[in-house]
Amino acid sequence: MDGDDEYNDGNRAFLQAFMARGTMTLREAKPILAAILTAEGDEPVDAMQITQDIFDSYLSAAQEALSSLDYDIRSAMHQVTKKRVYAIVNTTSDPMTQIATLHSAEEIAFVKRVLDAMFEKYNSPRLEAMFLDSMQFHQCCRAPPAARSQPAPAEDMDEDTPQSQQQLRGLKNSEAEAMMQSMVEEGWFERSNEGCYSLSPRALLELRSWLIETYNDPDAEPGEWQRIKFCEACKEIVTVGQRCAERDCNVRLHDICEDAFWRTRREKKCPKCETPWDGKHYVGERAVTETEAYRRSKGHRGRGGRSSGLMEQIMADPEDGEGDEEEEGLEDE
Ligand SMILES: [Zn+2]
Ligand SMILES: [Zn+2]
Repeated sequence: MDGDDEYNDGNRAFLQAFMARGTMTLREAKPILAAILTAEGDEPVDAMQITQDIFDSYLSAAQEALSSLDYDIRSAMHQVTKKRVYAIVNTTSDPMTQIATLHSAEEIAFVKRVLDAMFEKYNSPRLEAMFLDSMQFHQCCRAPPAARSQPAPAEDMDEDTPQSQQQLRGLKNSEAEAMMQSMVEEGWFERSNEGCYSLSPRALLELRSWLIETYNDPDAEPGEWQRIKFCEACKEIVTVGQRCAERDCNVRLHDICEDAFWRTRREKKCPKCETPWDGKHYVGERAVTETEAYRRSKGHRGRGGRSSGLMEQIMADPEDGEGDEEEEGLEDE
């Protein structure tokens, strides 16, 4: 029952199923591998019998088959569910180019605006949200006025950006929703029950270098606050997790990584700046929902408009949530 001797029809069937999905978890692989092994063997194999070892052997065969085609299989842990997600990754072409093969220039520009909102607008030392609620999402529908001279990291979008940029008008709400729906189906974004969008594990895997190139400052001093930050334990990007209480410190930790991380340490202090780690400074949705401003706004719901500017308010409100630090102090030391 170990299909790792030579590449066979079962391996091909597995790879086909994997490619059709783009990503796979052990749980998703079980029924697929059970069907393959049943077809190959004399007796039926139940999904329950599929172990991580069997899955691994199919993964490594697939990986070998893909390597000559400039594809690789990489995996990452989901930051919240802790499930390991495997994805087929193109090792040569930029993921934005891949997305561009399936979507129009308008749609790509819209996705770029969504990413900019997630990683620039709603990701500051004061508030590292890195997700969009439905209101902010809808603000990304329209293209900004052409006059806006934002020198967007042009090389990241594809070659035809300069001339097509002129005509971009944006998407209607319904078009934007349809586009996001397909991005969720393609495995790039996740949509929470509250209608908030964030990047999926697959996107974090595939867009890793793109995100760093696009949103981090390569000339920043070591230790200077950067938009894209990594888990101190697993070294993957953190968009949901905990942060050092010191606003300008870059140390972040996934919730799912923290137990193992602190177990090896004598004191619960930031490993860089030694600020006590209270586990109450957040990255992701809780950076918003665990604030005073959010609680205040909850009381005022009912009028839709109230919550609209919440993130802006938190970013501007010096005495909110993480309030014990001094304000905006850009002057170092
Ligand atoms: Zn981690
Ligand atoms: Zn720190």
